[in-house]
Amino acid sequence: MIVGIDLGTTNSLVACYDGKSVKIIPNRLGEHLTPSVVSLDDDGTVLVGKTALARSLRRPLSSAAVFKRSMGTDREYTLGDKKLRAEELSSFILRSLKEDAEVFLGQKVDEAVISVPAYFNDMQRKATKRAGELAGLKVERIISEPTAAALAYGLMDGRERAKYLVFDLGGGTFDVSILARTGRIIEVRSIAGDNYLGGEDFTDVIEQMFCRKCGVSLLAATYEERAQIRELTEKCKCALSNAPAAVMECTVGGEKKSFAVTAEEYEQACEPLFERLRRPVERSLKDAGVKASEIDEVVLVGGATKSAIVKKLAAAMFGRAPKSSVNPDEAVAAGAALQSAMKQRAAAVREVILTDVCPFTLGTDVVHNNGLFEESGHYLPIIERNTVIPVSRTQTVYTAHDYQTMVCVKILQGESRMTKNNLCLGELNVPVPSKPKGEEAVDITYTYDINSLLEVKVRVHSTGLVRTMIIKGEGNKMSDEEAKKRMEELAYLKISPRELEENKLALYLADCAYEEATGDRRLTIDRYISAFERAMGKGDAAEIEKTRRELIEFLDSLQ
Ligand code: AMP
Repeated sequence: MIVGIDLGTTNSLVACYDGKSVKIIPNRLGEHLTPSVVSLDDDGTVLVGKTALARSLRRPLSSAAVFKRSMGTDREYTLGDKKLRAEELSSFILRSLKEDAEVFLGQKVDEAVISVPAYFNDMQRKATKRAGELAGLKVERIISEPTAAALAYGLMDGRERAKYLVFDLGGGTFDVSILARTGRIIEVRSIAGDNYLGGEDFTDVIEQMFCRKCGVSLLAATYEERAQIRELTEKCKCALSNAPAAVMECTVGGEKKSFAVTAEEYEQACEPLFERLRRPVERSLKDAGVKASEIDEVVLVGGATKSAIVKKLAAAMFGRAPKSSVNPDEAVAAGAALQSAMKQRAAAVREVILTDVCPFTLGTDVVHNNGLFEESGHYLPIIERNTVIPVSRTQTVYTAHDYQTMVCVKILQGESRMTKNNLCLGELNVPVPSKPKGEEAVDITYTYDINSLLEVKVRVHSTGLVRTMIIKGEGNKMSDEEAKKRMEELAYLKISPRELEENKLALYLADCAYEEATGDRRLTIDRYISAFERAMGKGDAAEIEKTRRELIEFLDSLQ
């Protein structure tokens, strides 16, 4: 069985196509969203999702969140005594989603279509695939998040011809895509975005307003206070999505702080963020050669588009109310599931053909003659960003030095004029006959396929010699052997069993409440925890359920 997975910065989801429609699969807690958080329990067990999130607020040193931002890099997160990279942390999330899907579907899930931000480069995409493999999932297809979202909408509204702009604002990334639908074909026309802009930046705005108005210094606050301020500002931000004003109350340094904010004040303070949102929208329109007025539908995706001020901004930019008939949290997972259905050739969805674009420019390094002297390190684009894929393009380059015997083709990705600012994906050395400069030439052909694999072919004009290279998996610099070893190592880490999840979560929430409380309230929480722990010790399912419910009800009453 193949499923679709939205591996998000803040939350992740898994969905499947049951032959008729897309189903979002509930996780072990019965919820659709699994927070993309991993934490190591005191006994070394790996916790994932809401339980990990609850624990991370009190035990940040053994927890990791927002690691999607470091996908494809060598950054290591220290969780207790373990050092883990983003793809490894992501593999725990994927493992947990896989397990939830298997329980829900009653069958083995061995393959997934995973979504990634349109802006992910080759290394980040490969790292995402690797995360899937580490979780025991075959990942043949990676789909861009906005493309997936458009797929979810495209199939549902039955329109014959339309241009969509997908406005995807998640927790930490912003992606804009322009797609055109003609009959059975959905074509991605352009992609733009900002990797460092998301709902969290809006939370930052409220946090700064709170600190300014109430004279609070985050630097002087304790870790617990900062965690509490963050939690409350997040709530305050969400409240402003449906109300003209919100109030936030918080105790800092033993002093009660009360903060009131109107939606209007908040909107004004967000103006710099709006400016940053406008830029990628303008760029995507320009790249696609489309005017804002020609967009038929604006599709909102990502948790942060639930915000009233973001909806208002999108409406103002396009002169019409944006579309959000599919839950913005679920659109990407739904699209990934539809893509998985296409892969399985499900009859009802076979009809749609999806074309995607290469999200970045791929090129090589050349020497430029600037009229005075020859300057090396210049970038020669071969496949321009936003070219529809699969694509194959050839460029001819000439030898730059007298009697050189080797041409070194640098395979680069990026938008900068200069080689040094772009990402080097690999190098291909090809021998050429020794001749005066400019008298020998090679054809460089780049072929970029639908699975984001780049094939590079270099052909020497005079000898006909051909050298090829496929760029895949270079990002993680791991050999297959090393990857297998790492997989075995990770398998040693015990994952918290799914049937214990609700109990663990209840205990973490109770621990948090206990740490925050004082006096009698503390004693009461302790009584509830003890009753619950006693029930767990006895192993009586009915009593566990009853005491857990009582504990949660009491914790809820404290809020
Ligand atoms: P995602 O990565 O798509 O799950 O989006 C997560 C982001 O959406 C977080 O920054 C949340 O604060 C934000 N978000 C979720 N619900 C709301 C809401 N009702 N109003 C404003 N922002 C929200």
